[in-house]
Amino acid sequence: MTAEQRKQFVDAFQEFTQGEPLCTGCRYCQGVCPEHLSVYTMMGTWQHAVVFGLEGAKKQVARMYQSERADPAKCIACGACVEKCPQNLPIPERMADLARMAEEAHNAAEA
Ligand code: SF4
Ligand code: SF4
Repeated sequence: MTAEQRKQFVDAFQEFTQGEPLCTGCRYCQGVCPEHLSVYTMMGTWQHAVVFGLEGAKKQVARMYQSERADPAKCIACGACVEKCPQNLPIPERMADLARMAEEAHNAAEA
């Protein structure tokens, strides 16, 4: 791939992801959450649901509601995971987003 082709690919991908920085799966955030949240897994689910719009991921978000190990509402926004993240992802904001989506899905299922 030439430098120009690489630039075109990166530009197209960034347009596709609406400029959102993405989790690369490096797992540097693993084990740092005081609430024992699996940050790596949850950031993957966020981007599959929000950026890529995958239905399976949206169902996974719905299952997060009040779950023991993956309830995004448990995030206390301490920032410990952000300090470890080379992508500097806005993890607390994405956790809040997941919590809102999970609650909305739960409420819709109850209605
Ligand atoms: S910001 Fe939230 S997800 Fe990240 S380590 Fe703190 S409590 Fe866990
Ligand atoms: S440190 Fe950041 S990029 Fe790496 S797995 Fe965790 S959230 Fe994803």
